[in-house]
Formats: sequence, C-alpha cells, structure tokens
Amino acid sequence: MKSNNKSIYGALAVLAALAVFPLLVPNPYYVHLVETILIYAILLFGLDIVVGYTGQVSLGHAGLFGVGSYTAGVLFFKLGAPFYLAVPAAIGVTAVFGAILSLPALRVIGPYLAMVTLAFGTIIQILINEMTFLTEGPIGLKVPKPTIFGHKLHEIEYYYVVLALLAVALLVVHRILKSHLGRAFEALRDSPVACDCMGVSVYRYKVYAFVISAAFAGLAGALYTYSEEYISPNTYNFELTILFLLAVIMGGRKTRSGALIGAVIVVMLPSLLSDIELFRKIAVALAVIVVGVAAYNFSKGFKTAREIAIPVIATVGMVIFSFQLKSITDWRLTIFGLMTLFVVYYLQDGIVGFVRESVGQFVKPAATSSAATTTAATEWSPQSHALTGSGDLLQAQKILMQFGGLKALNQVDLNVARGSIHGLIGPNGSGKSTMMNVLTGIYVPTDGRVVFNGETVVGQTPSSIALSGIARTFQNVQLFGEMTATDNILVGLHHTYKSNIIDVMLNTPRYKREDQAAREQAARLLAFVGLADMREEQARNLPYGKQRLLEIARALGLSPALLLLDEPAAGLPPADLPELMAMIRKIRDKGITVILIEHHMDVVMGISDTVTVLDFGQKISEGKPADVQRDPKVIEAYLGSSAEALAH
Ligand code: ADP
Ligand code: MG
Repeated sequence: MKSNNKSIYGALAVLAALAVFPLLVPNPYYVHLVETILIYAILLFGLDIVVGYTGQVSLGHAGLFGVGSYTAGVLFFKLGAPFYLAVPAAIGVTAVFGAILSLPALRVIGPYLAMVTLAFGTIIQILINEMTFLTEGPIGLKVPKPTIFGHKLHEIEYYYVVLALLAVALLVVHRILKSHLGRAFEALRDSPVACDCMGVSVYRYKVYAFVISAAFAGLAGALYTYSEEYISPNTYNFELTILFLLAVIMGGRKTRSGALIGAVIVVMLPSLLSDIELFRKIAVALAVIVVGVAAYNFSKGFKTAREIAIPVIATVGMVIFSFQLKSITDWRLTIFGLMTLFVVYYLQDGIVGFVRESVGQFVKPAATSSAATTTAATEWSPQSHALTGSGDLLQAQKILMQFGGLKALNQVDLNVARGSIHGLIGPNGSGKSTMMNVLTGIYVPTDGRVVFNGETVVGQTPSSIALSGIARTFQNVQLFGEMTATDNILVGLHHTYKSNIIDVMLNTPRYKREDQAAREQAARLLAFVGLADMREEQARNLPYGKQRLLEIARALGLSPALLLLDEPAAGLPPADLPELMAMIRKIRDKGITVILIEHHMDVVMGISDTVTVLDFGQKISEGKPADVQRDPKVIEAYLGSSAEALAH
C-alpha cells in the first residue's frame, strides 16, 4: 500500500533526524530534553492503543508509569539489578498491573471507567509513598545511569539507548496495530456488539489492550528512572495523568506521529504554563492561527459563522485572559481542563488530523492505485463448518423474552432445517430482531431452549456462539466505520489466525502465512458480494446498500453453518433485489443455512423454503411460502401495515 510506504519513510526520516540531533546539538540539557520526549512517546504509543484504538478512557497511566519507574528503581536500589534485567522486569510487572487495571474496565464504561482508572492511579501513588521499606517513600530513590559491559553510560550514550528502544517500540506497536490484534481493538471501539458477533471477544481484547498498553508504560517508566537518576512519588500525580490523556487526543489518536507530538506537549506544556510571558506569546500565536484558519474557511463557505464562533471566541478570550493574569501556576489545571474541552470539541483528530485535513484541502489525494495486492483468482467458498449430520440445524423451543411487562417473544418455537432458507416475517415490532438477538447470545431469553448443531446455545457468550458457527448481520448496520472494507472482513476472519502476540511482534512465517491466506479470502469475499473495487474504502463512506453487502461478506468470513440476515434488502435500490436473491441462494448452495428477516415480500416468498410468521411475539403461521401467504391469520396481521406488500 502506498500510504503505508509513505509513513514508513516518514518514520525512518524522523528516526534519522533524532539520531543526528546530539551531533548537531551536543548540549546535554537539550539532549536530555529530547530524551524525555522520546520516553513519553513510548508511553503514548501504548496509551493510544487504549484511548485511540479501543476508545476507552484511562486516567491510570501515570500510575502505570510509576510502577515501571519504581520496579526498575527498586530492583537497582535493593538488589543492584543490571539495566538489562531491570527493564524487562519493569515491563512485565507493569503489564500485570495493566491486567489488574483492566478488570474494572470491563465492568464499567464512560465516566465510571474514568473514575475507576483515576482511583487506580491514586492508589498507586499512595502505595509508592507508604511502602517505604521498598520505595523509601517521599525521600525517593537515586539510580545512576546504567552500566553496560562495565562502562557507565553518559547522557548522550544513554540517549542512543532510549532512541534504539523507541525504534523497537515503534516497530512493535506498528506490527501489533496492523495485525488481527490491532483490528480487534479498533473493531471493539466502532461496534462492540458486531465485534462479539464476529467471534472476537470484546472482553478479552479490552484486557489485551490494557496489558499491552501497560507494558509500554512500564518500558517508559524504567527508562525514565535512569534518565532522571532520581525518582519520587510526586511525579506520578493527577496532573501527569491528565497531561497524558490530553497529549494523546491533542497529538492525534491512532497515529504514531500524534504520539510524538503529544510527547512534546507533555514535556513543554508544564514549563510553558509556568512562564507567563511565554504563555502570552503562545496564546497570541494560537489566536492568530485559529482566526486565520476560521476566516479562510468562512470566506470559502466551508464553515458557517456559528461553527467558527466558539473557537475564535475561545482563543481570543485566552489572549485577554493571559494578559489579565498575574501568576499562572495556580491556573495550570484549569488551563489543562479548558484545553482538553477545546480539543475534544474542535480538534477531534488532534494536531495530526488537523494538519492532514488542511493539507488535504490543497492536495488532491492521488487516485488509489488499482495495482491490487491480492486478487481473487478463485471464487469464495467457506472454509469450515462442513455440514454433516442430519435433522434440524437449529431448534429453538418455547422461547420467552420479556422486557419488563412486554413479552417480545412469547413461547416461540423455531426449527430450521439444514441447508434451507428460512424466512422470518411479521409486522414491525413483532419480535423478529429479538429472536435473532436471542439466537446470537445478545439477549439471554427469560425462558426456553436453543439447540444449535446438537449444542445448547443459551448461556454462551456471543463470541463463542459466533465461533460455533452462527454469523449475522444487523438491522441497523453495525460496521466498523473507521476501518476499510477489507479490514472489516478481516475481523470476520479473525478466527483463522492462530498466531499469538509474539508471532506478530516477530512477524514469523506462521503469521505471514495466516495473514496472506486471510487477505486472499477477504478479497474473494469482497468479489463475492461485488465490492472488489472498494476494498480500501472506509466502511462509513460506502453507500448504505453497499454497507449491507459488506456486512454480509464480513459475516461469511466466519464460514458459518447458519447465517442470520436481518432485513438485508433495506436500503438497496429495487433494481438490485434480484442480485441479492441470487446471492442468498448461492450462499445456501455453498452449504450455509440461512434465516432471512425481510420486509420485501417478493424477496422472502421468492427464495424461502419455509416461512415463519410472528405477530406480537407469537408464532401465528408457518409453512411453505404459498401456504403462508394464503393464511387468513397472516393476512389479518398484515392488514393496515403492509397488506399490499403481502399481495405482491
Ligand atoms: P421486529 O420484529 O420489528 O424486529 P423487535 O424484535 O425489534 O421487532 O422488537 C419487538 C419488541 O420488543 C418491540 O416492542 C420492541 O420495542 C421490544 N424490544 C426489543 N428490544 C428491546 C429492549 N432491549 N428493551 C426493551 N424492549 C425491547
Ligand atoms: Mg427488526
């Protein structure tokens, strides 16, 4: 991929510039400053996995940073452990703390998660303070620069150690994020429910994200200890954790350059906010930029007066405020808070996103090269879940699903024969989607049994039900919007990867083989649903009808035995309906049993072997399409709603 190459060259250029920096500026003060930035960048690579990719808030990362620092510090101080043992130990110990932090993160979301992680960070700081027998408490620990092969490193040599580890961290985080693990993180942010239904456990991958993120914080913490040569509990405070979060969002989430910019912010902002003169100058410069950009956007008609008003007022207000202030230190946290709000509302993709957008206005993106990386030579076919056995594939017995007083499903039986297309119809609100949610484990029914392929489904998690061979689409499309069409399907193919994180980090032959196979299968699936020329398009940019097709392809990635389609024709132009029907038949002919919820009567009646009709949560009719269509109960249920549709 072209853009991929571009970012690799960019990264190499930045690393090269960082490598020559101490030669050009041999002043130890500045070398130390840049070294500190690099250390924070490593932490922010990790924090971005949690914040940018999985979309969770963590205010516990200053605490994790402290765990890393103190693990290395204590190991040296108490045991004289060498650098090459202390650093891996810090990574490992901090990763364990990351797992501990993630446990509450699985139970709560949003503001509660922020509170819980904040409490975690606070507890860590208190523990460091109180466990004087290990940490020497508030007095702190002195740790000299590491000694390697009997040689004590000086500042500039240590700078190169940090730079080398930053390069390794960059490579590792890059490999993780472009692997199936990275796709799982992104997917669980964009649609947790779809993620689970693709067999990718949201629960498990949230824990992974926190653990991996913590490992990076541990590495950064250990490097910080040797860099500063002195650590004390005060460093790992509330202000630092807020600063980390601000840095990730302000730099730009989901980019490594954003993390680097963020690290500059972490280092510079506190000193910026302690020098009132400097703060005033920056406030003026910022206001000039914002007013300039706003005026440009307004004059070109890109933005309305209302849209530009608040950023303009805010930055001009900041200038006035900065000249009113006598002392700035008391206002630091307030200013952080205001900056965070500003970024969250007006700079959602951070500085990197802002620059990309501004540049993008002038530079038209080059047409994506059609030189395909993988082409679909053969037609798609499912890989597993070969249909063996006889009898019904699915038996749902006496399903009762109650929401408060409402019986969305009332004693419904549903038997689906192997290899059939089973239509499920009924007026709006009759319980069709609810049935689908029960079958896929999203809802646990109040009562009743579901047996799929001889195994009980009720009580299993959605991801394990998916892996046992039930795939689905959603009535309200649930794609992973920020991911490309190919990547969406690759999430459906997640189960084909047996590689673990070590394989991914080392890019082993096993991982390469699996990735190649999955990408080929994804290309075949895209071709199967007619989206071959949109493989690199972001899912949210596809037309609605195409999004539905992509959802089907993603579900097929599971190679399911049973495919549940919830109104696949909704949003498709009528001219495309015959093609959709042909596709559903083809899916069935490949050995996949289909349950089809659909409002277009000609579609359901045209391709279903059996049709079940629900009304007010009860099964009112079942049989061959022609018989169901003639059933007086069915006609009555549809009267007034879509009787004319039934007549077609
Ligand atoms: P449809 O046949 O149109 O797909 P649904 O299965 O979506 O119908 O809904 C059936 C009934 O159950 C509706 O009355 C709906 O409001 C109700 N319902 C569905 N999900 C929930 C829920 N999570 N909480 C409360 N009521 C629900
Ligand atoms: Mg529905």
